[in-house]
Amino acid sequence: MVVESIPKAVGFIYGLLAFVALTWLWYSGRFTRRRAMPFLIASVLLGFLVFAPVFPYQLQMVVLGNAAALGSPLPMALGGLLAFIVLALVFGRVICGQVCPAGAVQELMYLVPVKKHGRAESRVPVAVRAGVFVIFLVAGLGLSVNLLALIGLPGFFHLTVASVSFFVFLSIVLLSAVVYRPFCRYVCPYGALLAPVASRAFYRLRRTDACIGCRKCERACPTGEADPSARLGECYLCGRCTEACPVEGALVYGRGDGKST
Ligand code: SF4
Ligand code: SF4
Repeated sequence: MVVESIPKAVGFIYGLLAFVALTWLWYSGRFTRRRAMPFLIASVLLGFLVFAPVFPYQLQMVVLGNAAALGSPLPMALGGLLAFIVLALVFGRVICGQVCPAGAVQELMYLVPVKKHGRAESRVPVAVRAGVFVIFLVAGLGLSVNLLALIGLPGFFHLTVASVSFFVFLSIVLLSAVVYRPFCRYVCPYGALLAPVASRAFYRLRRTDACIGCRKCERACPTGEADPSARLGECYLCGRCTEACPVEGALVYGRGDGKST
């Protein structure tokens, strides 16, 4: 379904504007899941129409040195990926929250009202993703193998329904109705780079003295990152915790003080 005549730059300009808008919503205390919904829908639509800004696939193309598929010169694509890693160090994983089409489609699937599994533990997915990252690098740099194509990331958004890989990624998307963001948490190589950086983010969700310790935010969080000891590398800025918090101003997005949520 991807319309090749639409320049990939359209997706990346959208990505930049959406990043600025979402960061401002968080910074100004106006972020709600309802306000985030149009971004989720727009990001998924751009994924299918332009196949951009699909950050992990950009990283895959950079690793393979495939400038033709990037839609921009290799150094520019690499610079863009590095820039968003630096931005994650300042603002956390805003792009994963609602901008990246791969993340957005899973976020929307998780809204399907079925029983959820695998909540609130984050060490196993992080360890698995680290292993996948090593395989990703060895396959890409050493063997010129496009691992994300085998998993079906491009095939899914291009709707190449005649390929096996399309059904691999479709299965991941369907799984995300019951498991929160399986691709982001277990597979995504770009997420593997963003997570350790975001765990030191300058701006982050944190509790204030108004917190009454009811732990509703912790029960609402699908990745266990609303726990006070969490480092927020797996916080996707989904907004479930702030929505669940019953005390205004008890859980805010702002400059970190060494403590997380
Ligand atoms: S973890 Fe990867 S796939 Fe998920 S939203 Fe972030 S960049 Fe996209
Ligand atoms: S701490 Fe959990 S619930 Fe809150 S925004 Fe991050 S991932 Fe979502």
